[in-house]
Amino acid sequence: MKLIFEKSIPERPGFQVPRSDVGKKVKIDKKYTRSESASLPEVSELDCVRHFTQLSQRNYSVDTHFYPLGSCTMKYNPRFTENIANIRGFACLHPLLAQLPNGDHLTQGALQILYETEQSLCEITGMDNYTMQPLAGAHGELTGVMMMAAYHKSKGNKKKYIIIPDSAHGTNPASAAIAGYTTISIPSNAEGVMDIDKLKEKLTGDAAGLMLTNPNTHGIFNNQISEIAELVHAVDGLMYYDGANLNAILGRCRPGDMGFDIVHLNLHKTFATPHGGGGPGAGPVGVKKELSPFLPISRVGKKGDGSYYLNYDYPQSIGYIAAFYGNFSIIVRAYAYIMLLGQQGLQEVGDHAVLNANYIKERLKKYFKLKYDRTCMHEVVFSAAPEAQKGVHAIDIAKYLIDKGFHPPTVYFPLTVKEAIMIEPTETESKQAIDGFIEAMIEAHDLIKKKPEVFKEFPQSTPISRPDEVKAARELNANYFNKKL
Ligand SMILES: *Cc1c(COP(=O)(O)O)cnc(C)c1O
Repeated sequence: MKLIFEKSIPERPGFQVPRSDVGKKVKIDKKYTRSESASLPEVSELDCVRHFTQLSQRNYSVDTHFYPLGSCTMKYNPRFTENIANIRGFACLHPLLAQLPNGDHLTQGALQILYETEQSLCEITGMDNYTMQPLAGAHGELTGVMMMAAYHKSKGNKKKYIIIPDSAHGTNPASAAIAGYTTISIPSNAEGVMDIDKLKEKLTGDAAGLMLTNPNTHGIFNNQISEIAELVHAVDGLMYYDGANLNAILGRCRPGDMGFDIVHLNLHKTFATPHGGGGPGAGPVGVKKELSPFLPISRVGKKGDGSYYLNYDYPQSIGYIAAFYGNFSIIVRAYAYIMLLGQQGLQEVGDHAVLNANYIKERLKKYFKLKYDRTCMHEVVFSAAPEAQKGVHAIDIAKYLIDKGFHPPTVYFPLTVKEAIMIEPTETESKQAIDGFIEAMIEAHDLIKKKPEVFKEFPQSTPISRPDEVKAARELNANYFNKKL
């Protein structure tokens, strides 16, 4: 086998093939090669098409069902942005093109999109620079916390921990831990936001920073945020904004103005690009200019003549965080979405997301318990604790909803609410669709009163009713061919 490039390739950070190996024959050890052909099932094209079409029809997706999965912002992915991402020049762009000598001129359109998306995101969130590279929100968090560490190191600061409220998404403490920090959890107060007095007790000069999402995972906006930022900055800590809930505040307020220094966004949530089983996604990270030198390489630069190029010349950079341009086709979709909606449209997105969640809250609060009965933002969290006493748990209500034609809401998260049912309708649902969901929830409420025992039998409409998820996680067997049929 020959390596792809015959010509010399400039040695740039991140490109793995040393120049001396280009064009060489590569030997693959016998133990890695097949000795006989793989026993793949032989079926006709039609059988194959039917198999996969039928499998896809068993799926619940935003294209087929209402999908109020809280904290995930499962909004509709408009076909307009899909069409833009499928333009040949974008879809067939080879990631290595920009690595070729003088390759930049072959990729000007792509670089311009990366550059302009960065500028739009700066304006939307009030930050100074972005990296478009991280491939998910959690990946953005790690990137952000690594920059936090690089910043403190450059200033000679000795920092030990990161402060995180108890309602945070699990990825926040995980990212902090991977970056080498311990974490301190701050409880929520009776209003459902981080208790500022408890913060004051824990905050010392050892704090590298605070990670917070606003509105938080209770769907509640923390209006003490500027005061919190002042407290954290006073001990030379940095404010990290988990942007997964940006959908609630689009066009209304900006993390940069609230005092945040680092922001990650989930393009696959707020900016209507596809989610998948862990991907594809994109988690761009924005920073205030004091932190810009630490951004990952490469960064897109603009020359005096208006042309774009990949710039690797940032000696303080935390380095290389993802291949090539990040998840480029996701960024193209987000760019198209931002261009399509404009400032006014983005503001309406946030406003309608909040309106829809509050509509659900008001109509359902007579039937289900609210831990925090106050105006919510883009999502509302009910507690099925009273139902659980009758033997019907949050998971049972979720399974019931599947039979009614709805993807279940998020259950058992946030951990701060017992038997949590976290509902996020997003702005793209019609009143009819939302009313249908509300009716199903009311029917569930009535059925719990009359016949709680039947809830153990849902769902009945799915090929598998209740998989043993614990067993599946402990004894994972993902090999189809080992399955005894
Ligand atoms: C989704 C989410 C994340 C993680 O983002 P991924 O893109 O799934 O990695 C972090 N925080 C909150 C609040 C989230 O909802």
